[in-house]
Amino acid sequence: MKRLAIVVPCYNEEEMLQFTSVELQKEMNRLIQLNKITKDSFILFVDDGSKDRTWELISAEHEKNPVNVFGLKLAGNVGHQYALTAGLLTAMQCCDVTISIDADLQDDIGVFEEMLDKYHAGADIVYGVRNNRKKDTFFKRTTAQGFYKVMEIMGVKTVYNHADFRLMSQRAVKHFAEFKESNLYIRGMIPLIGYRTECVYYERKERIAGTSKYPLKKMLALAIEGITSFSVKPISLITIMGFIIVFFSFCALIYVLASFFFGNVEPGWASLMLSLWFLGGVQLISVGLIGQYIGKIYIEVKHRPRYNIETFLTNENEALK
Ligand code: UDP
Ligand code: MG
Repeated sequence: MKRLAIVVPCYNEEEMLQFTSVELQKEMNRLIQLNKITKDSFILFVDDGSKDRTWELISAEHEKNPVNVFGLKLAGNVGHQYALTAGLLTAMQCCDVTISIDADLQDDIGVFEEMLDKYHAGADIVYGVRNNRKKDTFFKRTTAQGFYKVMEIMGVKTVYNHADFRLMSQRAVKHFAEFKESNLYIRGMIPLIGYRTECVYYERKERIAGTSKYPLKKMLALAIEGITSFSVKPISLITIMGFIIVFFSFCALIYVLASFFFGNVEPGWASLMLSLWFLGGVQLISVGLIGQYIGKIYIEVKHRPRYNIETFLTNENEALK
């Protein structure tokens, strides 16, 4: 049997915490009864530098059930992605499998069982995917869809309609820990791990209490982080734009020369027009070219793991593995 850790990042979640803790424990006990997970499976609440009573409540929950409820307090607010990483890397040391979920329980805890079944059937990563966005406002829905489209164009692999609700085996988290970059966009990194992945589908609920900790500003920041941490395509776009403008400058050359010879243009107009287009294009190409090198440096300094070995069949001893 496997020891499960449910990792829950919390930022100013005093309204939700107790409810969340009770619900998660109920579901966990049910899974324990079903023999799907061990009795010492645990919930790990990560307090992301909350300013309200979140940590007090986490400590109280731990007092009540020290076997199944753990808490991790971060020294300051570092943001959802970092809090989640801290939780996963801490949990990984003492569990076999993790499930990450938001503190507001908008994601359906009823699919834990299905996730665990897929894990037991051999999947290392199981994505929780929303089957629709009916509950979202029109604005959130269109911006989210637009974002996934842009990511696709930029060549970043992401799972459509999947946020950070997912199961990860211990070895998947261990490999995730090898990603040494400091700009985190977790849902873009997970597909790079490899291994067998599965999806489970669920209906996303509305927040029961408290307010969203992801206002438009943070959503935009996450989107920009996602694109700039994963893709150097924007740099290539500058270069391409430069070439397009230089091409137009040649078209303009014909037009300007024609006007110069046939029309009565102001003195200096022709040369000014031509240099405007041509130099603009050349400058963009140059900036793009420098950008290409910076892009390479940027990829290099990430020191990402270059591969992930899934199995290694050998007759040598264990130490080699
Ligand atoms: N969160 C966090 N640190 C932050 C912001 C949010 O740990 O700086 C947590 C928050 O407590 C919640 C999760 O991240 O558990 C997702 O936030 P929220 O539910 O407010 O986002 P939404 O569902 O509105 O996108
Ligand atoms: Mg939420």
